[in-house]
Amino acid sequence: MSDYDEDDVDYLGGSDEDDGFDSPDTGDDDHDYVTRTFAVKEEAKKELEYESLNPERILQIIEGDAQKVVNISGLELGICQILCRVNRWNTEHLLDKYMDSPGSTLATIGDRWSASQDCYAPPPSKRVRRNQPAEFVCDICCMTPDEGETFKPRCGHEFCKDCWGYYLDTKVTEGECLIKCMGEACKVVLVDSDVKANCSEKSWRLYQKLISQMFVKSNSHLRFCPFPECDQAVSCRDVSESSLNTLVPTVYCVNEHPFCFGCGMDCDHRPVICKVAAIWLRSAKEDSGTSQWLKANTRPCPKCKQMIEKNGGCNRIMCQNCKHQFCWVCKADWSSHGYNNSTCNAFKESDKADYELEAGSKLERWLHYFDRYNNHELSARLDEQLYERTEEKIVEVQKASGLSWIQAQFMKNAVVELTQCRTTLKWTYSMAFYMKAGNSKEMFEDIQADLEKSVEDLSQMLEIEIEDINVAELRQKMIDKTVYVRKRRDIVLEDTAKGLQDGRWEWMIALD
Ligand SMILES: [Zn+2]
Ligand SMILES: [Zn+2]
Ligand SMILES: [Zn+2]
Ligand SMILES: [Zn+2]
Ligand SMILES: [Zn+2]
Ligand SMILES: [Zn+2]
Repeated sequence: MSDYDEDDVDYLGGSDEDDGFDSPDTGDDDHDYVTRTFAVKEEAKKELEYESLNPERILQIIEGDAQKVVNISGLELGICQILCRVNRWNTEHLLDKYMDSPGSTLATIGDRWSASQDCYAPPPSKRVRRNQPAEFVCDICCMTPDEGETFKPRCGHEFCKDCWGYYLDTKVTEGECLIKCMGEACKVVLVDSDVKANCSEKSWRLYQKLISQMFVKSNSHLRFCPFPECDQAVSCRDVSESSLNTLVPTVYCVNEHPFCFGCGMDCDHRPVICKVAAIWLRSAKEDSGTSQWLKANTRPCPKCKQMIEKNGGCNRIMCQNCKHQFCWVCKADWSSHGYNNSTCNAFKESDKADYELEAGSKLERWLHYFDRYNNHELSARLDEQLYERTEEKIVEVQKASGLSWIQAQFMKNAVVELTQCRTTLKWTYSMAFYMKAGNSKEMFEDIQADLEKSVEDLSQMLEIEIEDINVAELRQKMIDKTVYVRKRRDIVLEDTAKGLQDGRWEWMIALD
């Protein structure tokens, strides 16, 4: 694997990193509050050491690898670049092989080693035809190009530039970045300058991208950001295959996209480890038919059966028809459920082992967890929509109440926090589903319930009618609640991470 200089790596975990947010001097707690919101992601970064790499940086590292091979082998840069690629940038292996047997190493790219002169020798040149016609005719298109409009790589196979251009554009579009000469049965791999000189500019950019992709795929310390349109890769040396049973390596690219360095999932799937998350998603996919209805945001009122549409993230639902209030998730009467008795997260486990359970109770158990998982996904979307509807009002409020722009961000910050918490909560249900019943699981469900409750409280605050209330008061309450919710999330993440390290969680499934 590529082994570029550790010294070159400027890790993002450092405290001197600009968080990209210019906090004006407001002279009160806001400054602290706003920076703390942005500090959440910084905290995640601290646990792992990694660096986000842009496309230029990746090409630089690739160039550095080739240069290293040049320095040791004495071969030309162009030749070293394609040798690195053929050997998937395992430069040590490549150099060992080259020192051992230069002839067979060079043969992989169609070149030769001259034993007599003990040096690199270009491939055998195309024999000059007898009765050479007065003017050059391209063997592919049978045309005579204008003077100078031909090209021949180091093997001497000469064709017109139009044919080369067409050939290279096609090969690059097909995804190749190790392209052989067009000559019949010729094994010579074209060097990058051959490609650049003859293909379109678009193909050249794609060609470089293909090289970067191959490089990142070949290197277990690198992974591309999975977000569409994002060109960043992350370099991290702290994650090994075996560490994935005790660690969830969430990273953020420089564009603040969270993803898992272990499995590449495009979200922060903490606290559940990659293997369990993958098994969960597979089951969820298989199940999507039978519990499709769970994903819908309409459900019948438990009392009058009128269909009710959920229009905010909060689980406290009031039926417009009969005024009955109930919990969206567990359908319990709200008067006994309330915010303080958030007991709808834990499933009443049977004493029987999983294989002893009847199909019906197995399904019931699955639906309990799957429903809560889906509900957080739905609620996160609804919170976001609710915020968008409220944002306009906030701008009005801001003008009327004389709040600064920074001060008016409290609601946005609350929604950002809510979304992160709902993602975490979502995954705690997949974790709980595969966790063996017992003390550890009960404690896990206690801190999960704490987070559930605080998230519901904050979510409820978003549904308040702005006109009716004192904005300064709401603002302070919401800021306090947001900070509180974040603490609850930190507790869930810290405790589960520690549990993974200590081997505290017992799974109902075999992980190996
Ligand atoms: Zn031609
Ligand atoms: Zn050739
Ligand atoms: Zn990204
Ligand atoms: Zn993962
Ligand atoms: Zn009703
Ligand atoms: Zn409930």
